[in-house]
Amino acid sequence: MNPALRKPLIAGNWKMYKTVSEAVNTARELVACAASAPVEVMIAPPFTALASVAAVVRGTPVALAAQNLHWKNEGAYTGEISPVMLTDVGCQYVIIGHSERRQFFGETDDTVNARIQAALTHKLIPILCVGETEAQRESHETFSVLDKQMVKGLEGVPFAADSHLVVAYEPVWAIGTGKTATTDQIQEVHAFLRGVIDKRLDNPLAKSVRILYGGSVKPENASEIMNMPDVDGALVGGASLSAATFDRIIHF
Ligand code: PEP
Repeated sequence: MNPALRKPLIAGNWKMYKTVSEAVNTARELVACAASAPVEVMIAPPFTALASVAAVVRGTPVALAAQNLHWKNEGAYTGEISPVMLTDVGCQYVIIGHSERRQFFGETDDTVNARIQAALTHKLIPILCVGETEAQRESHETFSVLDKQMVKGLEGVPFAADSHLVVAYEPVWAIGTGKTATTDQIQEVHAFLRGVIDKRLDNPLAKSVRILYGGSVKPENASEIMNMPDVDGALVGGASLSAATFDRIIHF
């Protein structure tokens, strides 16, 4: 963690959990504890709860994210949500290319790229998720897979002087499985990603990019992960659903 260069971010991804009232209640509890956290705190409720949660977190230290977006502003795209709709409802961040989208909903590096461009155009901060599968790690493809996801995801993206970007390293084999990467594995990948970012993006944008770790982060392992030199935060799934548990993570 390098707070001098980058304010750490701990982000909660609520996936397809919580009705509107459940989301509002958890968001209220979180607002009460986030003010004293030494990090920026963000939550990504399901689309149906964004407007109600936005009303709870507005003007508080808790930032709001969507879990996905379409790259068009509007149109005949049944079931999709546009960047215009997300900024209108009060989102500041958007998660892009989560492995569950890549695995189950046909997300590719090309669609990830289109979504990143759309997010930046609308001043939403993209959280670009990258990560290898267990088979890819076992066959020593981790770094080539990550390099491709980063290069393709960011290819030709027109960053502006005031653009921001967050990258989340989420080994697919560690998401929702209870298996966490070791701190050595995490640090090794984060240092590699930092190198890719430095090579691909201009300063000062490159220096400002935060690299989060995601994959079975919980109160018991948050501190050792957050203390790795190239870890700038965490993307938390299951353990962000309870405000009490997430509170222990954001106060690692
Ligand atoms: C995630 O969904 O991004 C995630 C990391 O999930 P979990 O913390 O449950 O492994």
